[in-house]
Order: sequence, then C-alpha cells, then structure tokens
Amino acid sequence: MLKPTAPDPARPPAAGFARGPGPSTAAVHAGEARQKPGHSITDPIFASSTYTFADTRAIVDFIEEKHPREEYGRYGNPGERVVEDKLAALEGGEQAVLFASGMAALVGLLMAHVSAGDEIVFFDECYHRSREFCRRHLTRFGVGFREVKTCDYDAMEAAITPKTRFLVSESPTNPHLSVVDVERFADLGRRRGVLTLIDATLCTPYNLQPLAAGVDFVLHSATKYLGGHNDLLAGAVIGRAELLDPVRNLRGIMGGVNSPHNAYLLERGLKTLALRMERHNATGLAVARFLEGHPRVERVLYPGLESHPFHGVAARTMRGCGGLVTFFIKDADWRQTAAVVDAVRIPRIGPSLGGVESLIEQPLVMSYWNYSPQERQAFRIPDTMIRLACGIEDAADLIADLAQALDRT
Ligand SMILES: *Cc1c(COP(=O)(O)O)cnc(C)c1O
Repeated sequence: MLKPTAPDPARPPAAGFARGPGPSTAAVHAGEARQKPGHSITDPIFASSTYTFADTRAIVDFIEEKHPREEYGRYGNPGERVVEDKLAALEGGEQAVLFASGMAALVGLLMAHVSAGDEIVFFDECYHRSREFCRRHLTRFGVGFREVKTCDYDAMEAAITPKTRFLVSESPTNPHLSVVDVERFADLGRRRGVLTLIDATLCTPYNLQPLAAGVDFVLHSATKYLGGHNDLLAGAVIGRAELLDPVRNLRGIMGGVNSPHNAYLLERGLKTLALRMERHNATGLAVARFLEGHPRVERVLYPGLESHPFHGVAARTMRGCGGLVTFFIKDADWRQTAAVVDAVRIPRIGPSLGGVESLIEQPLVMSYWNYSPQERQAFRIPDTMIRLACGIEDAADLIADLAQALDRT
C-alpha cells in the first residue's frame, strides 16, 4: 500500500541519499517510493476525489494521526505529495505546499501569514499580479503595502516599520532580469525580524537555492520551468515545516489544489529539470551574445552578459541565467519592433516562459497596451523592448532565425 506521508525506509528522497543527491538525481528520484502500486516504475494517477476507510477504527486512528494517509481531495492527493517532496528536496527545504497556480501559491502564503495592521514591502520589479493582489486586495483587509526600487536594500530597510511582516522579491526579475543578492536580502529580514520571500520562478532550484542563503520562503510558478512543457499551471511554496503548516491548512480551506492528473504532468516535467535548465542556460547566453553583437540591437538585458548591471551578483551566486533574454531594437518605433516579432519563425508569439517551445513577445503590446506612456516609462517598458523566452531548440537555429528576422525587417 502507498503511504504518501509516512516515513518509509524504502524511500530514496533527500534523507536516503548518502551525501545528498545532485540536482538531476533529485529531479528524477526524490520524493518517490522505490516500490509502487502494481510494481510500476512511474507513479500512478489516483483519479479520486475522496479516500475511504475500512471501518470506524481506521477513521479514529487517522484522526489521532496514527496512520498518515489521504482523506479528501481538497486536502491533497498522493501525486501532489510526491511532487511536494521532490520540490522540497530540490530546494533543500523541509516542506513544499503545491497550489493550482503560482498566484494561488502567493495568495495562499500571504493570507496565511498576514493580519490587519501588518505591512508588506516589495521590490518594484516583482510580478505585477503579485503586487496588484497586495495593493488592491490585501489593503482592503487592512494590510499595508509599500514598494521600493529593486535591489535598493537601503530603501527596503528604510521602509521597514514595527508593523512590517514580509519582504518580497523576485530574482531574476522579469523582464529586466535584475538579480537580487539573496544573502543580503535574507540577512536584512533576519536582522529586522521580518519574513523574507523570493519568487524564484525565473532561476529555478537548478540555478539558485535561496533557502540555503537564509531566505524563509521560496515561491514558484511551476507553470514555467518546473513544469517545463507549456502544458500545465501550478505553483508551490517551499520552506520550514512550522511556517508552512498554516499555509497547508489554509489551502485545505481555499481549495486551490492540483488535480491528480495535473500533479502527474508536473512530476513528469520535473524529471528533466536539470537537463532542460542546462540547455536554457546555454541557449540563453548564446542568443544574448549574438543579439549584443547585432547592429540592429541597441541593448540586451541578460545577467550572464558582462554588460548587465547585475552580472557580478549573478556570476557569484547563480549556476546559470536561464532562457529569458530581453533586448531593444535600435532606432525603431513600436511597429518596426512588432515587425521583428512577427518575422521570427521558430518562437511562437505569446506570454509565459520556461517551456520547451520558445516564446517571443513585445511587452508594450502583450502586457502594457492599456497603460499611458508615462506609466510605461515608470515601469521602464520602452516601445522597442522584446522579450524572448528561449526554449530547448538548438541555439544555432534560434540564432539563424533571429538573424533573418532582424535582417528582413
Ligand atoms: C507566471 C509568474 C507568476 C504567476 O504564476 P501563475 O502560475 O501564472 O499563476 C508569478 N511570478 C512569476 C515570476 C511568474 O513568471
């Protein structure tokens, strides 16, 4: 019988590896039972909304926590637990709580830990929906919200008051790819007694492990690199068990859980995380270098390039910089920039990132069309900005494709 939460000596996750597994071994094996139902090598998908008990005694034993097991689908399912244990092992955290999307994870985490009168401080390049949730919705419940310039640690410290409960950042940020010094960020939170959260969607545990730097929570939109195939939405929060217990509890009430099928898709995607990230890192850098040398490109933002303002932090703290590359077309208006986007043949045009298929978009059109020029300037989104999320296609093909698009338009 499968006992998803019970300690099982046959299980190979983190504790079962002699010196701790490498990222690829962990991605393939961590969190999984060595022997599975039906002697299957892969985890079964339990398409079940509820879980039954043999008799009344079994219910009482379960309630008295003698036998950890499933009860009802809103509290989790066996496949979801496998993914949670795999993510905890990959991030070097005690526990993970999986949600139905990255935003559900953020909302669940903050709602579980803030109360009326508390305040949250964000770096201003964080995902716009995360900031919108705090600015427009948490404030209705009496939770204060402040934003300071990204990577201005002094400004962040100055924004801390006795009411501050959370410091929130993303790293690298999107689309500017600013890289947070996670040790400095974690240290600031520790010194001032404030919880720290890094949205690590863009770096993934392969490139950076913020928990090891002392950050309290890591958040992921698993929709991106973790799932990796542009075929699912999911999110996760990873950290210490005592801090995640209230989050898991609230998830059981909110109900933002993954279906068994979705959890399996994510588990399957995660198996190749390290392989895919190696490719995303190599292709991202090769494409960024190509673009930097192209006469029609004014500037490239990629932390792996020496020209990037945060290259030093990235080189010191990250294994690689991923597949996202932001660049600006020289002496162009928005239509001429759009023509470059429309001329590429391999990357598809659309939002999102981190999947095997490359995606390209002009942020002005995709995300900022309804904003005023003044607002776009404040967000640093020029009309000539293009965001390319490199997939795992051959770098030479992507470069040749970009070359023809830039030369043809
Ligand atoms: C996509 C994204 C989110 C939101 O995640 P969903 O899975 O779409 O809800 C949050 N943060 C970052 C950095 C993202 O890229």
